[in-house]
Amino acid sequence: MSAADPTTDLAATSWVASANQGSDFPLQNLPLGIFSEAKGLRRPGAAIGDYILDLPALADAGLLDGDWVDDLAQPVLNAFLARGHSAQSELRERLHELLSDERYRDDVEPHLIGQSEVHMHVPCMVGDYTDFYVGIHHATNIGKQFRPDNPLLPNYKYIPIGYHGRASSVRASGEPVIRPNGQRKAADSDAPEYGPCKRLDYELELGLWIGRGNELGQPIPIAEAADHIAGFCVLNDWSARDLQAWEYQPLGPFLAKNFLTSVSPWMVSPLALAPFRRAMPPRPAGDPAPLAYLDDPDDRSAGALAIQLEVTLTTAKMRSAGIAPHVLSRGSAEAAMYWSAAQIVTHHSANGCNLQPGDLIGTGTLSTASDTGLGSLMEISNGGKTPLSLDSGETRSFLEDGDEIVMRAWCEGDGKVGTVRIGFGECSGRVIAYGV
Ligand code: CA
Repeated sequence: MSAADPTTDLAATSWVASANQGSDFPLQNLPLGIFSEAKGLRRPGAAIGDYILDLPALADAGLLDGDWVDDLAQPVLNAFLARGHSAQSELRERLHELLSDERYRDDVEPHLIGQSEVHMHVPCMVGDYTDFYVGIHHATNIGKQFRPDNPLLPNYKYIPIGYHGRASSVRASGEPVIRPNGQRKAADSDAPEYGPCKRLDYELELGLWIGRGNELGQPIPIAEAADHIAGFCVLNDWSARDLQAWEYQPLGPFLAKNFLTSVSPWMVSPLALAPFRRAMPPRPAGDPAPLAYLDDPDDRSAGALAIQLEVTLTTAKMRSAGIAPHVLSRGSAEAAMYWSAAQIVTHHSANGCNLQPGDLIGTGTLSTASDTGLGSLMEISNGGKTPLSLDSGETRSFLEDGDEIVMRAWCEGDGKVGTVRIGFGECSGRVIAYGV
């Protein structure tokens, strides 16, 4: 992961022309995913430009070599990720060679498939999904709605706060969002009623995919935490705010959250993100230093990620009228995360809890300090008090049926032929009524 890693050289180009033209997937990215063609088997691929490179086909053609090659014949990436960064790094170096050196073009080109011709899936069998709450501006904004004078609870600056989510309802981008039913209690009612959620929201998060796991009872030291992170994605923690408000005490989120979690299907490697690591934002004066088990000099100096984030909304009316998507927010993960990815992983295992290959961890909603990069409608509409206006003449406090949310993330640097963009692809979902 050093700066000398040739696979992150932003000046390098591919013989796949579309990879060099502002694509989310240039030669420096090479994210892994699981895809299928119509009636075809699920299998791993790597994104390059407008294409996906069929990895089992590449292996069958004798173009990949390593003790991990058989793991790429699986319909999920868990076994490959369990091998840790060494296998990921070997595959990445080989793909970089095959896709940059013109000599390999005739052998490799037959194994490129247009991304528009395939269906993408969740890349792993997710054993466990955990959601954190490290977006300090989000936590402050939400806290203010309940406790204007004391938005952050006393534990926030000591503990990366999290809760266990639901793995079974993790889906890839594009999965419809069926409006959940549940109990909701209006402030002026004595009793709750059961019915469709009226305050449906999204949460903009990054997802962490766990690679190598840890044994039960063996915490992951902070200096080793990065080795356990196989990749990153965009994650939407769909949230039913009215259900949440009624159910969350005393044990936290439950049915307000577990009806669906959407992820962008590409797993962006920490190796690809290495040039975009930054120092963690300095803690405000007066904040406690992290306890020793969460403190690491390398993480302090390079634990933040300069990842740009964007969320857009279209309504059914906007789409039929040809109105461009409404940008709900533009922000960055860099200044939003009070705790780093490594601190999240270390804290999760600090009691001996075992993480496993293919586990998914959400960072928590990532909002900026300013109101241009707020990661949920709960913040944008101030709990529904200030609806936003759309060019269609419609207003929104929360999501209506037919609304579509698209999240995107990317890092940018200067390359040989313009800006090189390490993109995450899209994480989208359209709301539909229950029973339709
Ligand atoms: Ca969340």
